Amino acid sequence: METFERTSEGNDTVSLHQLTEFLRNTYPRCDDDEKFGARAHHIFKKYGGTDALSRDGFLCLWNTLLEKCIKPKSALVVVDYQNDFIDGSLSLKKCPLGDDPELLLPRLNEFIVKSDEVVYSLDWHPEDHISFIECRNRRKTHESNRIDPGAVKVAEELFFEIQGRPYIQKMWPRHCVQHSEGARLHKDLVVKEGAIFVYKGTDPEVDSYSAFWDNRRSSKTNLKESLLERGITNLIVVGLAFDACVLFTALDAIREGFTTCVVRELTSAISEATIEEAVQKLTDAHCPRISFDAAYRMLSGGPLPWIFVWQQACQVSLVRDTCCPSSPASDREIDESD
Ligand SMILES: [Zn+2]
Repeated sequence: METFERTSEGNDTVSLHQLTEFLRNTYPRCDDDEKFGARAHHIFKKYGGTDALSRDGFLCLWNTLLEKCIKPKSALVVVDYQNDFIDGSLSLKKCPLGDDPELLLPRLNEFIVKSDEVVYSLDWHPEDHISFIECRNRRKTHESNRIDPGAVKVAEELFFEIQGRPYIQKMWPRHCVQHSEGARLHKDLVVKEGAIFVYKGTDPEVDSYSAFWDNRRSSKTNLKESLLERGITNLIVVGLAFDACVLFTALDAIREGFTTCVVRELTSAISEATIEEAVQKLTDAHCPRISFDAAYRMLSGGPLPWIFVWQQACQVSLVRDTCCPSSPASDREIDESD
């Protein structure tokens, strides 16, 4: 492997110094990260132990982490840009921030047109979905509720009893009912031919904020498989709402092994308080919020900034055993506090 030969300068192994230089010379913006040195060391230890990185260790690192950050194939993920969230029963215009998702349309459409690969997720509920406040009396509630289920208000939480256990659910007005006008994508949104469509929240008994997994992580959509079939490695997540389904889709995308970022300018949000929580969760997951221009440049390929390598390094132990069974020495997850 040519990259190994070059990085090891003709030796059998790669030293910590050689790996660090390779990372610094390959991925943009390493120097923006004040923990870069320590994090490079973590990666070195994880794949090579304490002394040196063998050819196998380097290959494993390359296959699980480095390659997808050098030659990313990007897809734009447009989350829930549906009538009910824009002008309908769950309109963001009526939420505390008063964001107007229609203002996103010109740039959102520009981005969709420019993207080779686009994913549209749709909230797609049956008539009697568990999240609908109108249906709150149709299911058994759990004894742990502090409020009278009959008096619950929109955006408050109820515990339902499912297989004897409490299941928490935030209550919303009926929205995005399958095949209804409210569930349709906004009429002016560009819909790209050959795009991937993902329908979530289709089980009446489980809600689903993420386009990958339902909220109980009991079942998943086919999104991951569809992305892998097309060789997509990098996701640019936009849409509605930043502090709900965009957030949970981005977090799951990272866990599923896709380098992931969010373009905040191409999202609308619910409230200041939930934005703050969302930003914290994305920061903890090393998920960058990037500008429209930076995201646009990303579509032309080229190595991703260093933060994406670290974002995925923090996930690697979840998948590593299937990629390279014999190699790395340390089995524990990367611990940022070290
Ligand atoms: Zn919903």
